[in-house]
Amino acid sequence: MSFFKKSPWLLHYDASSCNGCDIEVLACLTPVYDVERFGIVNTGNPKHADILVITGSVNEPTREVILNLYNQMPHPKVVVAVGVCAATGGIFRDTYNVLGGVDTVLPVDVYVPGCAARPEAIIDGVVKALGILETKAAALKAGAAEPAAVEGSK
Ligand code: SF4
Repeated sequence: MSFFKKSPWLLHYDASSCNGCDIEVLACLTPVYDVERFGIVNTGNPKHADILVITGSVNEPTREVILNLYNQMPHPKVVVAVGVCAATGGIFRDTYNVLGGVDTVLPVDVYVPGCAARPEAIIDGVVKALGILETKAAALKAGAAEPAAVEGSK
């Protein structure tokens, strides 16, 4: 399954970011950082995606969207939480409408630190995710059962 290392497709979702981390994710696609040199394609379709990149903390409406997107993605798949808000809720974590980081909803494979996360850190996180994706693909190929869909707590 080494082709996953060469052509992973990435889905980016803004769970309630201030847009600081989103701008840095988009910067990764510019010629300056050129994340496509790893064969990574930014897709808008969860059914085509291997990597779910989430920015911002999770609130009640985006929680449902995150679950919906994640459960539409085929196995194997990995989740990358970009920025402090996606990791923990960040500076918004104690506000009335914030549930916390992405791992309050989904299993997160890679946490990218920063506020905002720097493009170099995001690319490093995605490259780490590729290794995890390959491990998961090998496990599935060896006969491991696909993990069940993640259910909401409601
Ligand atoms: S980590 Fe910082 S830049 Fe990123 S969404 Fe949160 S407040 Fe904005």
